[in-house]
Amino acid sequence: MGVPLSQMWTVATYVMGQRLRGRKRYPLVLMLEPLFRCNLACAGCGKIQYPAHILKQNLSVEDCLKAVDECGAPMVSIPGGEPLMHPQIAELVRELVKRRKYIYLCTNAILLKEKIDLFTPSKYLTFSVHMDGQEDHHDFAVCREGVYKDAAEAMRMAVQRGFRVTTNTTLFEGADPNSVRAFFDEMMELGVEGMMVSPGYAYEKAPDQKNFLKRQSTHHLFNMILSNRDGGKRKWRFNQSPLFLEFLMGRRDYECTPWGNPTYNLFGWQKPCYLLQDGYADTFAELMQETQWDHYGRASGNDKCQNCMVHCGYEPTAVNHTFSGMGGLFATVRSMLFGTYRDEAALKSLEQEKGRPHGPLVQLGLAEVKPAGDDSPDPTVRVGRKGTERVVA
Ligand code: SF4
Ligand code: SF4
Repeated sequence: MGVPLSQMWTVATYVMGQRLRGRKRYPLVLMLEPLFRCNLACAGCGKIQYPAHILKQNLSVEDCLKAVDECGAPMVSIPGGEPLMHPQIAELVRELVKRRKYIYLCTNAILLKEKIDLFTPSKYLTFSVHMDGQEDHHDFAVCREGVYKDAAEAMRMAVQRGFRVTTNTTLFEGADPNSVRAFFDEMMELGVEGMMVSPGYAYEKAPDQKNFLKRQSTHHLFNMILSNRDGGKRKWRFNQSPLFLEFLMGRRDYECTPWGNPTYNLFGWQKPCYLLQDGYADTFAELMQETQWDHYGRASGNDKCQNCMVHCGYEPTAVNHTFSGMGGLFATVRSMLFGTYRDEAALKSLEQEKGRPHGPLVQLGLAEVKPAGDDSPDPTVRVGRKGTERVVA
């Protein structure tokens, strides 16, 4: 099981409490961005393009705690930037643990070995490590060689020291579903508690604009990856709602819940969600009251929302569905206990994908595949996991 029972119980009682009080809109996870600077520069990142004077700034611990108290969500995710670069990150985590918040400290793990002694293992603290796939793919996605190896080593050490460790994976157009499945196996072998996975959002500011997934291709990709989990090998644990994963696979339809994961950062409370920046509110109450929520989500017709299937908008919907009545509860339990998703068509597509090109040069449009049956001399360039593709440069 990916999420500990105590955390599930906290979330369940919180959601029930909100529903009993008749609250229509309530937050589940506060996305607290205490800084935007990072020690990497990933091509799909929408957070590190601010000017230098913004990148230098940190939110104070006091401001962070004020936001946490105002919001009241039972879970706090700390993305960034790279939160381990924040000079008072350990103090912030200590204060959040005192408040019994379940913390997901999102890190690329480059600094984890160096900073780990600043932290104490706790059921409230999880290091959520950014890992976008197997070694070649991850290093390409984060635009630096060696990051996968360092992150894997740091995660192993954190697990050995008794910390909760999860992974956080973003998938883009052209992802190799067979490689992603092998990556999930690798992470399980590493001993992580669970994994989180989501399609990327097409940030207007991200340098790489052409590799974001559209809705239909998202369903197809996730169905190939997450179906057919039967057999002793595919015992993957996910640290997220199984109903959200079924949504990604196209097995259920949801509308976005933009207020579910509100975002607080250097500019204030970001309207309406973690991904869009349509202004800022000074207080959480103002964010909830003054945001025109009906302008967002797929049904609103807003162009920026049409292809979005990102966890920060849809995972709260899935969690709310779980606690909406017996139907949601039953669907969640069924998925957790019996969700192996046998699907012959997905299996066939997976096989076909083995003969298609994937990997850095293909993603960049710098290589093409030799057609089946082409017996001309060996390709001069191979990409992706060694020996899996025949690509000519
Ligand atoms: S590690 Fe995260 S914050 Fe840093 S550049 Fe990459 S995506 Fe952006
Ligand atoms: S659909 Fe995506 S971009 Fe639109 S409001 Fe929801 S989370 Fe934000």
